[in-house]
Amino acid sequence: MIFYNRCVAKFMPIHRMGLGVFWMFNICMQCEAYRSDKTIDLSGPYAICPICGCKHEFLRLPLFVITGASGSGKSRMAIELAKIITDVVVIECDIFWRAEFHEDSGNFWEFREFCLRAAKNICQGGRPVVLCGAASPPQYENCTEFRYFSGIHYLILYCDKEELRQRLKQRPEYRRCHSDDFIKKQQSYNKYLYQLGNTSENMKVLDTGGLSCTEMAVKAREWVHDILSRGDRKSFMIRDNE
Ligand SMILES: [Zn+2]
Repeated sequence: MIFYNRCVAKFMPIHRMGLGVFWMFNICMQCEAYRSDKTIDLSGPYAICPICGCKHEFLRLPLFVITGASGSGKSRMAIELAKIITDVVVIECDIFWRAEFHEDSGNFWEFREFCLRAAKNICQGGRPVVLCGAASPPQYENCTEFRYFSGIHYLILYCDKEELRQRLKQRPEYRRCHSDDFIKKQQSYNKYLYQLGNTSENMKVLDTGGLSCTEMAVKAREWVHDILSRGDRKSFMIRDNE
């Protein structure tokens, strides 16, 4: 595919910069300003510092998101998928969660930005990222960091309402998934995502009813490879050069 052969951005090696990975991309190599809102020039593509105009080439790859209600199987899917796929990097978003994100009620923008910032940097190694965690448009699409991706593709893990309830009831007590209120919210979100999947071009529903974890992962791998095989760099809901 085209984007695998593209020249990797001309970064100074990170070990020479003495900076953490999350600074690698956003800090300007010329004026050293930290800016995530660089202007994107698609001719490179280039990320251009809004302070001094310094630009660097980068890899603008598609983003894959595996979403679903609690109990839909996202975490199990992430573990199994990572075992059987090598041309993308699978990330379970929970590893990025911190208590302070709770203070950002609603759409958890800081958390979303954090996930995208990590994914963007990982992409510079030449492999797209699959983020596994509950999300729905426009939670990622409205993030500043989203401009560094060529598009977004969702796989929605869906299961029958009653099956979802049973899965949540079977979880250990400490996960606090047993209340009727929580279960109803998840059933509602499950239905909402299913309906989205039937109306959006970049959202595909995977009915997980009766599927083992391995079978779910194989289906997810097919979904990723189908998109990559099309060399699909078409953008969905991209905010270019705002
Ligand atoms: Zn600069």
